[in-house]
Amino acid sequence: MARFIFITGGVVSSLGKGLMAASLAALLQARGYRVRIRKFDPYLNVDPGTMSPYQHGEVYVTDDGAETDLDLGHYERFTGVPSRQSDNVTSGRIYQTIIAKERRGDYLGATVQVIPHVTDAIKEFARTDVDDLDFVLCEIGGTVGDIESLPYMEAIRQLRNDLGRLSTVFVHLTLVPYIAAAGELKTKPTQHSVRDLTSLGIQPDVLVCRSERPLPDSDRAKIALFCNVRKDAVIPALDAKSIYSVPLQYHAEGLDRAVLEAFEIDPGPSPELGRWSDIVDRIENPEGEVTIGVIGKYTGLLDAYKSLYEALTHGGLANRVKVNIRWIEGELFEQAGSDVAAQLEPCHAILVPGGFGERGTEGMIESVRFARERKVPYFGICLGMQMACIEGARNTAGLAGASTTEFGPTNEPVVGMISEWMSDEGLQKREEGGNLGGTMRLGAYPAKLSGNSHAASIYGADEISERHRHRYEVNVHYRSVLEEGGLVFSGMSPDGELPEIVERPDHPWFVGVQFHPELKSKPFDPHPLFASFIEAAIRQSRLV
Ligand code: GLN
Repeated sequence: MARFIFITGGVVSSLGKGLMAASLAALLQARGYRVRIRKFDPYLNVDPGTMSPYQHGEVYVTDDGAETDLDLGHYERFTGVPSRQSDNVTSGRIYQTIIAKERRGDYLGATVQVIPHVTDAIKEFARTDVDDLDFVLCEIGGTVGDIESLPYMEAIRQLRNDLGRLSTVFVHLTLVPYIAAAGELKTKPTQHSVRDLTSLGIQPDVLVCRSERPLPDSDRAKIALFCNVRKDAVIPALDAKSIYSVPLQYHAEGLDRAVLEAFEIDPGPSPELGRWSDIVDRIENPEGEVTIGVIGKYTGLLDAYKSLYEALTHGGLANRVKVNIRWIEGELFEQAGSDVAAQLEPCHAILVPGGFGERGTEGMIESVRFARERKVPYFGICLGMQMACIEGARNTAGLAGASTTEFGPTNEPVVGMISEWMSDEGLQKREEGGNLGGTMRLGAYPAKLSGNSHAASIYGADEISERHRHRYEVNVHYRSVLEEGGLVFSGMSPDGELPEIVERPDHPWFVGVQFHPELKSKPFDPHPLFASFIEAAIRQSRLV
């Protein structure tokens, strides 16, 4: 039967709870256990799909089409286990389900309450679909003491009672700040945080203490004493140089051991962590470096491009080079007198990532033109592919008015909304002005690649499956005019209706993809498109 590890955070947010969960899962996996990580988000949005990237960072999309928290990306990158819809739940979704049931009359006669109805729904979410697992790690979003996370705390408290002491372990992540004036680390915030937790009926079994200085043994002992935790279950967690060194670091500090011991499982010999030391070695000892210009629209918050950043890093790992990213706001190139060439000339390759809305897109189109004309490697992802098609239409196919209906009415809808397509529920019709939540092509879809294309040679396959998140599609009716201009449609949906990949055979590396390959890249298994793109950037760096 699956055992549960509940992960909570205290003192402040942004301590790296998701990374800790992902690292612990990777360590347990390296010991031969089957793991899955789940995230409970206490906010009232049904999913993060409609939140601004500036609010919430990237929306991570799963194969089964769920729009989820970006922590699920970490989970997948660290464990290789594909995340699913059932791995992320929000209070919004839970309330939505309960209220729908109430309206249907499922609770007829009863008063619907946080306890037991909300807590039961949370418990059910945690326990669904776990039969083939050894450990389910459940990360509770937010910080202990938040009003919104109370039902989750109550639910995990009850789960300990339902499942028993040896099937549940509580791990709490806190901060041990360094106070410069005193020249000391301070354990008091950790003590208070654990006190808050125990007041909710939860006694942590393992404490993970983030700090920027090494935690002296005496502080470890003090935390153990005041927080009622065994001293070797107080795990120091110093800031790491790279996220991929975190699993090794946690292992060295005894995290996986402490968790197994809390379950009264004999930890046995140390796991084989060669995969992780190889990644760290590649990060710490690169044989060169390249600079990639990313022309986006949320560059003020790098969390908005989390998976993209990681996938570019993985492309660097595959080629043993350090990848420097020059983040550029598309809007910059729209200002009078802005010098696109001066900004882009130092870049060995150019990437336009996904995005929504018109702001900055003329600047993206200018970047595509620069890359095409100067023969600098170009990678367009989702919006970046759409912009490559509009640039091609305008500048190589004679369609000066080419645009996308996303930005308003246009006479040349090179990119447009297809108003219907088949899904599991049959023919879907989306109405203009209808709900924006849940109206996108989401999740894994297959594509067929032309045999002699660059895309097929990069993938080493002629059929692929990649994850999507978009409302608009490149309009297949423009295929021949765009192809005459040199932009070839090399990947299509199996029915031949939806362009999935475009490329320029007369260019060293010019690929646009309608999907998000960055979501499936892993440090130990870099995505072929990113590995190949960075390889092209290296070749370019030798030319300049
Ligand atoms: N805004 C575009 C669309 O909805 C692109 C989306 C994206 O880049 N993820 O189709």
